[in-house]
Amino acid sequence: MRRIAIIGGGAAGAGAAWELHKSLGGEARISLFERAEHVGGRAWDLTFAGCHMEVGGVLFHSTGQITKQMMEFTGAREAVPSLSIDGKKETYAFWTKAGFPVLTRVSLASMALGILKHVGVPSALKVTRRAIKMAERYEGVYQRLRERAAFATPDELFGELGLLEPTKISAAEYFKRLGVNDRMAYDVVEAITHNMYNQGLEMNALACLVGLAGAGLAGGHLFVIDGGNWTLFDKMLRKAGVELRVNRPVRRVVATSAADAAGRPFSYQVQTADGRSDDFDAVILAAPPALADLAVEVDGRALPVVAHPYQKVVTTLVVGELNPAYFGRSPGRPMPSTIFTASSAPAPFKSIGTTGWSPEFDSRIYKIFSADHHMTEAELAAIFAKIHDTRVHTWPGAYPVLTPGLEHLPFELNPGLYFANALETIAGSIEVEAVSGANAAKACARYLKG
Ligand SMILES: Cc1cc2nc3c(=O)[nH]c(=O)nc-3n(C[C@H](O)[C@H](O)[C@H](O)COP(=O)(O)OP(=O)(O)OC[C@H]3O[C@@H](n4cnc5c(N)ncnc54)[C@H](O)[C@@H]3O)c2cc1C
Repeated sequence: MRRIAIIGGGAAGAGAAWELHKSLGGEARISLFERAEHVGGRAWDLTFAGCHMEVGGVLFHSTGQITKQMMEFTGAREAVPSLSIDGKKETYAFWTKAGFPVLTRVSLASMALGILKHVGVPSALKVTRRAIKMAERYEGVYQRLRERAAFATPDELFGELGLLEPTKISAAEYFKRLGVNDRMAYDVVEAITHNMYNQGLEMNALACLVGLAGAGLAGGHLFVIDGGNWTLFDKMLRKAGVELRVNRPVRRVVATSAADAAGRPFSYQVQTADGRSDDFDAVILAAPPALADLAVEVDGRALPVVAHPYQKVVTTLVVGELNPAYFGRSPGRPMPSTIFTASSAPAPFKSIGTTGWSPEFDSRIYKIFSADHHMTEAELAAIFAKIHDTRVHTWPGAYPVLTPGLEHLPFELNPGLYFANALETIAGSIEVEAVSGANAAKACARYLKG
């Protein structure tokens, strides 16, 4: 029986466990170490003001095949986000220094019309076509994962899908070369990426296109998991027979070279913060090195693993009513439910939007994303006409800083040691991370099978 350790129970760790379950089944004993009290990682929820809500990865996309397989396996159900929180139609707005140039109902048709009016047909079409083409090409990853051995690096994977070029340049440069006008690039696209990644068009162009497709621009529909996104991973891992070791932060992974009985060159020891250690045939690291706080040693020497920087994001939840004057609107005018915020808007935050309804206060709950900035009381008092309650959740590393042309970590860090989050420094989403974990697990299974 092969013993495999997975370190980290987020989407990447779950994707890895799912692939190992499919490819090795009863031939392997999988133990998953998770630092937190439950699996899910950045798919995390809480209850605030009487409302259950996701504070990390919220929306799944219907084209995600690994998610779909896990849902079929566990019987997890989709819950489609409500289009009406308090009986009124929800609205979206794009906020720029000129106010709300786009303010539409939450339907793809109304949004498309609103955006077309503001930016013109050619620019809107160019961007939409690129997002659709990217999504079509990206979907090829599933067939390739079925047909071939694991990819060695993120560049190899995106290269084979014909998507490498946009990973090497910034979204700003990409749209400029495409002849997209500034209104589309900065008032619309960048406002969406602020909401998605808390970063602007300096990010790599592929991440930007993934974000646009994830927002629904390339078709499909968006949903959350009924009962909480993290429960999908929890149910799948338990049903697949994975041994869950929650509240067990890993501090060190030690590789020792010496061929074992099966001729594998390394054996592994996983040491946890409580002083315990366990032996494994292979290890899958499913946590970003910048956030994992663990050391990797090979034969007594530290393995240099580049820790790409991550973006801190502060999530401020507010039960209350927006102040129209703050957004340059006359008193009493209805306010949009979600405000995608362009860099030109005079705001200390990246986006603000309705995230739920508080039965306790009979009022909307708004979620504010601000990158590396704690909203001050004075700022909140200006943005809201009424505040009933607030809660802050800080993500020390919400997303990697999506710099174009990075040298990404490979899927294999050492023979027998695999890295499940490798794709994230190009583009991150729950499904992309599950794919990334699945690819790392394929490499691991191949190693174990010799
Ligand atoms: C605010 C926010 C909103 C988002 N919205 C969306 C969205 O709507 N749709 C979408 O698809 N994506 C969204 N994302 C992105 C998505 O949530 C992430 O890409 C994905 O969840 C990352 O999964 P992961 O497994 O790579 O990493 P993580 O989820 O971070 O998992 C890593 C796990 O490893 C554990 N860990 C770390 N170190 C150790 C250690 N030393 N020992 C043991 N365990 C350890 C951590 O506790 C964690 O559980 C959002 C992210 C954020 C932060």
